Amino acid sequence: MGSSTTKTVVVKCAACDGPMASPVFCDHCRRLYPAESLNHFELLGLKPTYDVDPADLRRRYLRVSRGVHPDHLQEQAADPAAGLRVSAQLNEAQRVLRDPVLRAEYLLELHGGKPASEDRRVPEGVLAKTMLLREEIDEARAHSDTDALGACRQTIQQSVDDTLAEITQLAGALPGNEAQRDALRAALNAMKYYQRLQSECASGS
Ligand SMILES: [Zn+2]
Repeated sequence: MGSSTTKTVVVKCAACDGPMASPVFCDHCRRLYPAESLNHFELLGLKPTYDVDPADLRRRYLRVSRGVHPDHLQEQAADPAAGLRVSAQLNEAQRVLRDPVLRAEYLLELHGGKPASEDRRVPEGVLAKTMLLREEIDEARAHSDTDALGACRQTIQQSVDDTLAEITQLAGALPGNEAQRDALRAALNAMKYYQRLQSECASGS
């Protein structure tokens, strides 16, 4: 979705003045730059926005991965493990950014929103709903009632879908104000309850 070029951050190489696909390496003179201070978006040459096109993300990931590979770099860096560290950082960046929930969570914290460890609130009704669902699941399992279990799975999936729609809307409006960021945190916390329930429901039958 959206044009990828508008989300691209163009950085110029300090050595050759060439445009760089990522601030971490230069395609032209094949230099490796320090990556420690870069966030996931910066590493992949993206502006920090929620709207990320998975195909574009994949292309960027592959391009930067190739770029920081020791075979591609002109000189072995003074620190031979630097490329490996960037690769690990890249894998983590891709893992987080391609997942719509993890991406929202990451972006929220980039914009100064509270992490889950500081704000565990969930929207009203979520705890009661998940508790009830858990009871229904136990009941259905106790009676080997596959229809009832299927109905539980459907209810959970619907909750996941609804919560994701809310997350998408709130994360798309970041940075927003504090109330909006708190609402996003609450929706992300709710998502964790539903996802946990979903994986519990998927294991065994
Ligand atoms: Zn260069």
